[in-house]
Amino acid sequence: MTDVTIKRLSAAQADFDTALSTLLAWEDSVDHQVNEAVRHILHQVRTRGDAAVLEFTEKFDQVSAASVAELEVSQARLQEALERIPRDQRRALEQAADRIRDYHQRQLQNSWQYEDADGTVLGQKVTPLDRAGLYVPGGKAAYPSSVLMNAIPAKVAGVSEVIMVVPTPAGVVNDMVLAAAAIAGVDRVFTIGGAQAVGALAYGTDTVPAVDKIVGPGNIYVATAKREVFGVVGIDMIAGPSEILVICDGKTDPDWIAMDLFSQAEHDEQAQSILISPSRDYLDQVEASIRKLLPTMERADIIATSISNRAALIEVADLSEAAAISNRIAPEHLELSVEDPEALIEEIRHAGAIFKGRYTAEALGDYCAGPNHVLPTSGTARFSSPLGVYDFQKRSSIIGFSAKGADRMGRVASVLARGEGLTAHARSAEYRIKES
Ligand code: NAD
Repeated sequence: MTDVTIKRLSAAQADFDTALSTLLAWEDSVDHQVNEAVRHILHQVRTRGDAAVLEFTEKFDQVSAASVAELEVSQARLQEALERIPRDQRRALEQAADRIRDYHQRQLQNSWQYEDADGTVLGQKVTPLDRAGLYVPGGKAAYPSSVLMNAIPAKVAGVSEVIMVVPTPAGVVNDMVLAAAAIAGVDRVFTIGGAQAVGALAYGTDTVPAVDKIVGPGNIYVATAKREVFGVVGIDMIAGPSEILVICDGKTDPDWIAMDLFSQAEHDEQAQSILISPSRDYLDQVEASIRKLLPTMERADIIATSISNRAALIEVADLSEAAAISNRIAPEHLELSVEDPEALIEEIRHAGAIFKGRYTAEALGDYCAGPNHVLPTSGTARFSSPLGVYDFQKRSSIIGFSAKGADRMGRVASVLARGEGLTAHARSAEYRIKES
C-alpha cells in the first residue's frame, strides 16, 4: 500500500493566507554545482565547437561518434521511423498534429500599416525567425508530443529552418519522436542533448548551425543552459514543475477528479495538484478516491510523493472565492469542473490554459486538443502566455514620413532634441523642415 498524506485547507481558517503561501512556495533552487558544470560545458562548446559536443555526448549519453555529422538524423531516417511505428501511433500523431496546426494557424499575426492625414505611413512588419532550435528531452523518457507542440507553431509562423536536438542515451533512438519530427516538418535533427546541445544551438559549431531562439523543456542542465545563453539567442521560458488546479462544484465523479490530479502528479515529485470546492463532503469523496486509486497507478510512488509534498484540497465558501484563490495561484492548468463554466470563466484572470466543463480532462490538452501544452508555470501566467506562433514571429516598426509630415513632426522633434541637448538629432530633423 502506498502511503500518502493529503493536505486539507479551508479559506475560512485564520492562517489561510500563510498556509497557501507555504503550499505555493517552490524554490527554483540555484544549484551552484549545476551552474558551474553548465558554464564549463557552454564555454567548451563555444570555444571548441564540435569536438566539445562529441566529448560531452560520450560522457553524459554514452554515445561515441567520429563527428557531429554522424549524429545527424537524415530526413530518410525520419520517414523510415514514420513508416515503422504502429499504425495507431502514426494515426494518433497525425490527428494531434492536424489539430495543433489548425489551432495555431489562427494565431498568425500579419503586418499592418496606416496612413495619417499628412500622408505619413506608419506600421508594423511581421517577420518569422530565420532559424529556431527545438530542445526535445530524452534523458529519462521520450516526448513525441513535445516535438509537435514546439515544432508546429514554428513551421506555421514560417520559420525557414527548425533544428531539433534530442539526446539518445546509450544510442537508443525513439522512433515515435523521429516520426513526430517527420510529421511536424522539422528540417534537421541532431541526437545530442543537455547543455552541450543548447550551447551548440546558441553559438553554432562547424556542423550545428546557430539558431535565433531555443524553445522546449528539459532537465535542470538544459534549463540552466537556456538561462545562460539568453541574450545570445532568445528563449521561450524557463519552466518549473507541472501544475493543475481544479475548481469543482461537487457534482463531477470524484474518481475523474482524482485521476485529473494524478495526471500532473505523475510528471514528477515536485508537481502540484490542487482541488478547490465549496463542498466539504465532496472533498472527502475525492480524498477517498485518491486513496482508492493510487495503488492502481503505474507511477504510484511519484504520485504519492508529489501529492504528499505539494497537493491540497481546499474548502471555500463559494465558486467566486474559488476563482479568487485560483487567480492568486495563477496555475499552469485550470479545470473548471462546474455546471456553468462560462459564468466562472468571467472571474478568471490568470491561468496558462483553462479547461471548461466536466468532460474537458486536462490530459486531452496535453496531447491533441490543439492549443499548446507548453504553458507558464509557478505563477508566471500573471505575465506570460502559452507557447505560440507569436513566439516565432517578430515585429519591425515601419515609419515613412511625407514631406508635409517631416515638416510638422520635425518641429516637435527639434524642440525635444534641443531639450535633451542632442544637437545632431535636432539639426537632422530641422534640415527637413520647410523654410517659411
Ligand atoms: P533531458 O533531455 O532534459 O536531459 C538529458 C541530458 O542531461 C543528457 O543528455 C545530459 O547531457 C544532461 N545531463 C544529465 N546528467 C548530467 C550531468 N551530471 N552533468 C551534465 N549534464 C548532464 O532529459 P530528462 O533528464 O529526461 O529531463 C526531461 C525534463 O523535461 C523533465 O524534468 C520533464 O519533466 C521535463 N518535461 C517537461 C515538459 C513540459 O511541457 N513542461 C514536457 C516534457 C518533459
